[in-house]
Amino acid sequence: MEIQFLPGVGPKRAALLKKELAVGTIGELLRLYPFRYMDKSSFIRIADARPDMAYIQIKATVQRVEVIDKKRLSVWVSDGSGEVELVFFKGIKWMFEKLKPGHEFVFFGKPTAFNGRINIVHPEVDAVSAESRNQSQQTGVGATMTGVYPSTEKLKTGGITGKVMNKLMEAALNKGLPFVEESMPEDLMRQYGLAPLHFALRNIHFPKDMISLEKAKYRLKFEELFYLQLSLLKQKYVRSRSEQGIAMPRVGEAFNRCYEALPFPLTGAQKRVITEIRGDMKSGHQMNRLLQGDVGSGKTMVAVLTALIAIGNGYQACIMAPTEVLAQQHYKNIQKFLAPTGVKSALLTGSSKTSERREVHQGLEDGSIGIIVGTHALIEDNVVFRNLGLAIIDEQHRFGVEQRSKLWRKAVCGAPPHVLVMTATPIPRTLAMTLYGDLDVSVIDELPPGRKPVQTIHATEGKRPALYKFMKDQIALGRQVFVVYPLINETEKLDYQSLEAGAEDIMNKFPYPDYTTAVVHGKQLNDVKKFNMDAFAAGRANILVATSVIEVGVDVPNASVMVIESAERFGLSQLHQLRGRVGRGSEKSYCVLMTGHKLSKESRHRIELMCATENGFELAEEDMKMRGPGDLEGTQQSGLPINLNIASLAKDGIILNTAREAADAVLREDPTLTSDRNQLLRKELRKEKYQIKDYSKIS
Ligand code: ADP
Ligand code: MG
Repeated sequence: MEIQFLPGVGPKRAALLKKELAVGTIGELLRLYPFRYMDKSSFIRIADARPDMAYIQIKATVQRVEVIDKKRLSVWVSDGSGEVELVFFKGIKWMFEKLKPGHEFVFFGKPTAFNGRINIVHPEVDAVSAESRNQSQQTGVGATMTGVYPSTEKLKTGGITGKVMNKLMEAALNKGLPFVEESMPEDLMRQYGLAPLHFALRNIHFPKDMISLEKAKYRLKFEELFYLQLSLLKQKYVRSRSEQGIAMPRVGEAFNRCYEALPFPLTGAQKRVITEIRGDMKSGHQMNRLLQGDVGSGKTMVAVLTALIAIGNGYQACIMAPTEVLAQQHYKNIQKFLAPTGVKSALLTGSSKTSERREVHQGLEDGSIGIIVGTHALIEDNVVFRNLGLAIIDEQHRFGVEQRSKLWRKAVCGAPPHVLVMTATPIPRTLAMTLYGDLDVSVIDELPPGRKPVQTIHATEGKRPALYKFMKDQIALGRQVFVVYPLINETEKLDYQSLEAGAEDIMNKFPYPDYTTAVVHGKQLNDVKKFNMDAFAAGRANILVATSVIEVGVDVPNASVMVIESAERFGLSQLHQLRGRVGRGSEKSYCVLMTGHKLSKESRHRIELMCATENGFELAEEDMKMRGPGDLEGTQQSGLPINLNIASLAKDGIILNTAREAADAVLREDPTLTSDRNQLLRKELRKEKYQIKDYSKIS
């Protein structure tokens, strides 16, 4: 039923709800859950209010009211403990009439720091109710709880305040609930003790009491995680049944030659992972494995040895990287390992010259090239392999499933190639299970010996002269320095401007010919980019000024300082990735996080964590907790390609495990969900929300 049929929702509000919250029907509205609850009967003292609190509710008396420039209404209110300013930019006249000095109201809103004091912009205003007038008359825990829903500025100015949302939900429950069908099969509800959907929806929006709320939450989280897992595992079941893999029983000569010539022993973790991969490749089933390992953990080595297994069994292998620079780097790096094997490799990227390209195409088709390294250019239609047996994809998160499937189609051996996906983004286990539920996961959880920890330092603008002095000292010792600027949006003019301004400043303070600075960013021509990049990699430039997106993959062991500008704008995992670019050589390395003076609570937390730990998995867990639902207005789960309404991958690991087992049990009996009793499951799975198509956004 269209949302417009609810009392209080006209075409305008309907459009707004659709645009801001993607809610178009009453059913969808009911599935928009509160991310927290307000206890209407509890108030905070103004003296205790702090700007880092998400919301506060105060009961206070109006002291003075002032209209400034006809544009702004300031209302000072006091509750005896202190005074706070309420600010209105809209509905000034109406508020001016309503908020008469001497009258008491309940105010609800987000406190912010302004000029060293706290104010609340556009708070919700309520009359003082009978219960709240006398706190001792509370009606018991939970009875006064109301949901707080995701919201946006546009919703608020469009009149859809928290209070209005509560009203809409009430109307939706009365009008729409009878039409909502149960979405979990009865036997599963019985087996896992799940509350019925109607009960859950009623109590998630208007909890009768704490216990009912918990039951409602459990049921809704379970449902969400169950279907997600069912969707992922079904893909896996179907694939492992239908798709044959290429059996690769041998290790082969090339592998052994390379192995014996290695300049270092493999770490225990590298050995274990290679054993896992070997097991997949000889099994006769297609390998679909995710290889996780922190930056510098030695994934390239594993990739080379894996490729050589394919070669040893008479097949070709490809290694695909997300950027030109990364592909070149890989190509260069693997040469020394391939040298003792005699296996021929080649590079193919968007900027390969036509003649080279022709030659490579020929070599792939006749099989003379054993290992091809490249970018997306590898999956173009005119690239034909003689017998591709293995595809290694580095930094999976930049490849969509579309592109993966294009690779499949290159298979001419009657079976799809084995796939090894490598990522340096550590993903917490619960998340890996969900995002990559259709892949097997291997983890390199050990760094090669002899690595020096990277010292991480937080600094603000005032320290810049000291930073430059420090950079000069390091350069005098023969080291090199990265300076990275955020490029959040490739089309963002401002980002380029700050990079250019920063580069200019550096070139002024580090003048040529005493110093050489290379600048690299995405708007340069490929040749220019490569020229500058090479200058730094070869040690001809002391400083590399670059954007974060494109050049992160470079391996320059002599670089000992990573300066990250506007570090507060990066996420934890990105910061960690960038830091991983130093500390690869034998010298002590440093990572300097430059930020503005004022930091949000979250940015500060991120920066502190970075300074406190170098463990990528620890950081990833924290990152997820920080981005979990309920922390931000309406942006819960930001950054995840899957849409979770209520469950949290960070916090609901136990429910996730149970739900996964439940899904697995169903599929073990009926992998294609064709039996009559599984029709409901089939129907639910068709919902958009459970269609997981794209892993490409995870970072
Ligand atoms: P990743 O791709 O996981 O970030 P790399 O494969 O680039 O890491 O390895 C980082 C560095 O460590 C490289 O210089 C590589 O030669 C070296 N390395 C890899 N494995 C070992 C090992 N077992 N012992 C010592 N050094 C190693
Ligand atoms: Mg690597």
